[in-house]
Amino acid sequence: MSDVTRDLQQSGDIKSVGLAIPGLVNRETDRVLASTNLPFTAPEHIHADLMKATGLRFELENDANAAAYGEYKAGAGRNARDIFYIGIGDAIGGAIILDGKLWTGASGCAGEIGHITIDTEGGECVCGNTGCLETIASSPNIVRRARERLNRDNTSSLSRLAMQDSFTAADLALEANNGDDFSLMMLERTGRSIGIAVASMINLLNIERIVLGGPVIEAGDLLLKPIMTEAGKRSLRQCFEATTIVAGELGVEGVAMGVALLARDA
Ligand SMILES: [Zn+2]
Repeated sequence: MSDVTRDLQQSGDIKSVGLAIPGLVNRETDRVLASTNLPFTAPEHIHADLMKATGLRFELENDANAAAYGEYKAGAGRNARDIFYIGIGDAIGGAIILDGKLWTGASGCAGEIGHITIDTEGGECVCGNTGCLETIASSPNIVRRARERLNRDNTSSLSRLAMQDSFTAADLALEANNGDDFSLMMLERTGRSIGIAVASMINLLNIERIVLGGPVIEAGDLLLKPIMTEAGKRSLRQCFEATTIVAGELGVEGVAMGVALLARDA
């Protein structure tokens, strides 16, 4: 941290710094409510600590909220009034933007689509619930599900690859694009689960545009198509027809771009 602090102090004309973390952030108090998927736990007062250490203004935000803002301003959410963003990677986050502003709820937790229940018989989630969307469709859980199935059915070209520690959801997507039936089936099933959650958001918000981002969405149409099909099946037709579902345009840089734009616009 001290190197970063020194660099920031020496960088001249910085007006504001955006900081996005995978965790819950209360923007009213600028406190971290919970943090996951970092090599460390983000301290509750990281915002105040950084401002004090650098003398610079910081804007602290949840990573999905930051990515949503990036897509809204500079990516697949451009020219929409309202969007719902879903980010799928090591975890699953979501964010709601209404009339150009992030709608973060009473305590900063709005949009947490990764923790809505998809499978009442499902496995335990990091949040304490069971069967959350994240327990099925996050990158590590796609890998886990693939390995469990491959232990029973080893006819796929993935069988040997999947046993390696380095095996990722991106490998599975690559095999699917090469026509491997097992990988295609896994993406199809994952997409259906995401589509169930998307349908709920469509019915709840009747939102103009849904932007899907994060590394898992890089799988492309093989994942997007089942998401759209399932969302269409499970939402009210009048709501579904008013919604456009698109892939994000900013890729893995979306979080950094979004939080920089938030810092600029705050
Ligand atoms: Zn959960």
